[in-house]
Amino acid sequence: MEKQNRLFYSYSSYLKEKYGTSAYRVAVAAGFSCPNRNSDRTGGCTYCDELGAMAVYQRGQEADLAHSGNSPVIDKIKKLNLYSQSLDSDMASRKSRIKEQVENSIKFLKRRYDPEYLLLYFQAFSNTFAPVSELKQIYDFSLALADFKELIVSTRPDCISKSNIKLLSSYQEKGIDVWVELGLQTSNNRSLTRINRGHSSSDFLKAYNLLKSNGIKTTVHLIFGLPGEGYNEIMESIKFLADLKPEGVKIHNLHIPIGTEMFSEYVMGELIVPSGLRHLEYTIEAIEKLPPDTIIHRLTCDTPSHRLGAPRTFFKKGSFYNLLIKEMELRGSWQGRLFASNVKASD
Ligand code: SF4
Repeated sequence: MEKQNRLFYSYSSYLKEKYGTSAYRVAVAAGFSCPNRNSDRTGGCTYCDELGAMAVYQRGQEADLAHSGNSPVIDKIKKLNLYSQSLDSDMASRKSRIKEQVENSIKFLKRRYDPEYLLLYFQAFSNTFAPVSELKQIYDFSLALADFKELIVSTRPDCISKSNIKLLSSYQEKGIDVWVELGLQTSNNRSLTRINRGHSSSDFLKAYNLLKSNGIKTTVHLIFGLPGEGYNEIMESIKFLADLKPEGVKIHNLHIPIGTEMFSEYVMGELIVPSGLRHLEYTIEAIEKLPPDTIIHRLTCDTPSHRLGAPRTFFKKGSFYNLLIKEMELRGSWQGRLFASNVKASD
């Protein structure tokens, strides 16, 4: 493969190529849980934020509450109860909560970006963790709420089965592009155990291969700087992933939400968190080692500051992006420069 005309294949350039115009994700928390958490919602990955991932438009409500009064931030956020409202509730309430989220999200997106195309994104927790009949009800209902072009489902390797892949494929047959976002975080089994991921790298591989062999596009999530991990472990994960040639990758800097087990470890002085500049170095080399046509969906985390325990200072998303571009240009760097087959080809 030869050098492309771009520094790296960003998600926004992929969307632009595919749709020719603006396309945005409508993120939904559909009331799914996670097999790695206890029924009382404790446990799980040591960095798991009890409140799950959150759409941008909902963060405003949460931030207002978090910055008011004197009680601990985590208690105030829990009071807002944005996610637990829908967890474990009956199907009718879940549907009504999904409808409300989709409507609010579309209103927000139209006001801010006026997108031409909308993509439905099941973001919080493990969105294939339910019987297929329940998944079908939720997906069908949600897809019917707007003219969605894509169904994007975020989940874990142990929640991928032949039957839920069959369901996902059925949407592809109807012309909806389907993507699965699959958490790996690191390929190092010792680290996976340390952060209590509840799966191994071979569990990931099994799920990934099942998706691939059924034509489902996959975006793999990685975290750079997990406890006990440095340059060598991160680059081993990148090599592991590059060999698989995934359609997409989401890179996250280690971010530790308040109230998590990992935050207690951090406060006790058991952990360090990579700085923005260190993350920049990891990210540039990772991009160089990934295949040129793997889409880079994300470069950093964007946990809202009122929920972020560490790092307390980090680049804003846009500043990190600008610095990355500048550095890659200065260094003559480009995605795939150190990808195994490129290196062999130029030997
Ligand atoms: S897989 Fe996700 S939702 Fe489940 S415990 Fe880990 S971070 Fe939490």
